Amino acid sequence: MAKKLFDLTNKIAIVTGARRGIGRGIALMLAQAGAKVVVSDLNLEECQKVVDEIKKIGSDGLAVKCDVTNQKEVNEMIRKTIEKFGRVDILVNNAGIAPFKPFLEITEDEWNKVLDVNLKGYYLCAQAAAKEMIKNGWGRIINIASIAMGQVGFGFPNLTHYCASKGGIVAFTEALALELAPKGINVNAISPGVIATEMAKPVLEDEKTFKTILARVPKGRVGQPEDIAAAVVFLASEEADYITGATLVVDGGWLAG
Ligand code: NAP
Repeated sequence: MAKKLFDLTNKIAIVTGARRGIGRGIALMLAQAGAKVVVSDLNLEECQKVVDEIKKIGSDGLAVKCDVTNQKEVNEMIRKTIEKFGRVDILVNNAGIAPFKPFLEITEDEWNKVLDVNLKGYYLCAQAAAKEMIKNGWGRIINIASIAMGQVGFGFPNLTHYCASKGGIVAFTEALALELAPKGINVNAISPGVIATEMAKPVLEDEKTFKTILARVPKGRVGQPEDIAAAVVFLASEEADYITGATLVVDGGWLAG
């Protein structure tokens, strides 16, 4: 029989910020590909609802409350994953915030909060997960960045802290990929364009902004969480073994324009 491609059967995945939006889409598609998925976010009940959906798909999951900025909670998330499933194979760093604010009005606390969730959280989860992956000589760390990562010929005003964090994620991904490649762990980033979620609501609900964005997207539509989830499944698979340190742009062609 022909080998099933992109098969994640019996892989153990953790997705942060997975109660809704892109994270939820990723968790469900990883489960469809056969992975058992730890669904983590700030709200445990909401995570449990996603786990219920995963079980309906025919896979298994675990809901874990985890604030990615809190090292104790991150370590606890890894501990619970090992307790239930025995190991960690795939980490998707996805939890993020994007509070729109003009640069001159951003307070130090607001700046720190965005960098803490979007960048420090990725470090804490990646480090804790990598320590487990190293034991098996195999792993995939996938960092959700954004086309707001810089150096792309297009800017995002009122999101300076967010853009700084997303640029940081790409640099972090490249450096970490170098350190972990000899240990069998691939580290990649995905940079989504505009995806229809709560986070993008301020952009999508403003008719003028929405039209401006659509005009820039050759595919003629905004993205859906499944568009990002498919890229995650690919990067998590055996077939993506030779891809590390890369940033995959999933934006309907926006940056090609
Ligand atoms: P979303 O719908 O707002 O979902 C993000 C989730 O992360 C929420 O459930 C949120 O919980 C959670 N979260 C926030 N702070 C957290 C923390 N400290 N610890 C754990 N979880 C936390 O956003 P999304 O659009 O799905 O975005 C997911 C990722 O894609 C983010 O990294 C984002 O930057 C990136 N992205 C999104 C777009 C887009 O257009 N949507 C484009 C490019 C990149 P609460 O709601 O309770 O705060």
